[in-house]
Amino acid sequence: MYQIDRFGPVVRIRMAPTFLGRPLLWVNAFWVAGLLIDSGCRHTVPDLLQAIEQEGLRVEQLVHTHTDEDHIAGTAELVRRFGVRPRVHALGLKGLTIPETKKELQLYRRFFWGAAEPSRGEALGDFVEAGTYRFEVIHTPGHARDHIALWEEREGWLFSGDLMLSPRHDRVRSVEEPAVALESMRTLAALPVRQLFCSHAWRVHESAEPLKHKVTFWERLRQDAAGLQSQGLSVREITRRLLGKNGFMEWATLGDVSKQNLVNGLLRAVGDPQRL
Ligand SMILES: [Zn+2]
Repeated sequence: MYQIDRFGPVVRIRMAPTFLGRPLLWVNAFWVAGLLIDSGCRHTVPDLLQAIEQEGLRVEQLVHTHTDEDHIAGTAELVRRFGVRPRVHALGLKGLTIPETKKELQLYRRFFWGAAEPSRGEALGDFVEAGTYRFEVIHTPGHARDHIALWEEREGWLFSGDLMLSPRHDRVRSVEEPAVALESMRTLAALPVRQLFCSHAWRVHESAEPLKHKVTFWERLRQDAAGLQSQGLSVREITRRLLGKNGFMEWATLGDVSKQNLVNGLLRAVGDPQRL
């Protein structure tokens, strides 16, 4: 299932795999002036293609915010149809050429998103030009090591990939580095944003305020968690006390997406960026 929303010249293609006719999780791709940002998951490839056709969108360039399977799965088909050369951060080239296979994905990822087909890509430079727009490529690791945000200064547009989600986002995957993501979020929160386009959220915010709130929320969480840790509490107890009980996501993902991962990650010292 998909829906189209327009924000001036920016077209959002909002897609969701469905189960028994209901949307499971939403993922966004954006189009502006021939540039497509991300290409959705395996289960939504037909939606993406239909939306592009329905809206008569020319796809001349394709850039990925990162190479998680829910952002790159339409790419192989777009390469075949439009002859585009996908671009990602240099650290994502491998993820694009050799994406995780169906077998390698945990069950919940297979169920929600599906596995992406491999595609060949190129490394992004410092800027992406599309029509009269000029996007700065900002490396923002933490959610993923190859994660980037796109910033169009004159328009005040920020395409924040998976860094924003929600101001009180309190669960992360075990492979994420929340302490590193916090630094990346601080960088983006300082920008004079006029429209904040998130890769999953429905809401398009008109400033960087929600990002600032998320930074404050995670900073406080880290501080409080460190305080409780010094009193001898375990990470599990700290998580329960500060963020409450586990919910559906912990259950559905067998703990791969959890509140405890966030607390654990924030408490861990920020390591050598080479290790991210
Ligand atoms: Zn992601």
